[in-house]
Amino acid sequence: GALFKDLERYGIRPPKYQDVANDAKNHVSHQAWATFYQYGHATNFHTWMPEKDELDWLSRKYPETFDKYYRSRFEYWAKEHAEGRRFYNNTLPQLCQVCQIPTIFTEKDDPTALSHRQIVHEGERYHFCSDGCCDIFKNEPEKYVQAWLPVHQIYQGNCEGGDVETVVSKYYHINIGEDNFEYIGSPDHKRWLSIKGKQTGGKESSSSQDAA
Ligand SMILES: [Zn+2]
Repeated sequence: GALFKDLERYGIRPPKYQDVANDAKNHVSHQAWATFYQYGHATNFHTWMPEKDELDWLSRKYPETFDKYYRSRFEYWAKEHAEGRRFYNNTLPQLCQVCQIPTIFTEKDDPTALSHRQIVHEGERYHFCSDGCCDIFKNEPEKYVQAWLPVHQIYQGNCEGGDVETVVSKYYHINIGEDNFEYIGSPDHKRWLSIKGKQTGGKESSSSQDAA
């Protein structure tokens, strides 16, 4: 913030909601990964739950938030996966009308509550991830009402089908099982293990040492 103090005399001030963005640094990456993880069937890349040493790293890097809000969820999903119940959310997320990101973010003062906002504009209801996106919409609604939102289009049947599997394979051309779903046991995982000269089936492949 030092630069802003120096520039104050010229009328330059930090952007609106900069305080929210600063606070979100402690949450966003965990929330985004949790979202990619549970919608891994609809992504074109693999996801997995971090190993214990990676969780420990996250706990150290995010001492204010990771253990308190995220670690137990990740451990629960890892346990479910180990017991043959890898979690996939069989809905699709609500998207923000402005940034088009799933409305997964949370309130600055309560990371357990979504910061979802909505407005009715000319008889139509629009949804937003945050106050920031909601303000942007209010400022120029005509620009954002026309946004093409993938999830909304999928549910309206405009992407070659109404079910996610058909859309993912026919519309997005994602090779099911090759490009999406869980990383452990995937073709990418097997290739990585063979490059590293390891046997398939081990979980050591995604450890931070290997990634480094
Ligand atoms: Zn947004």
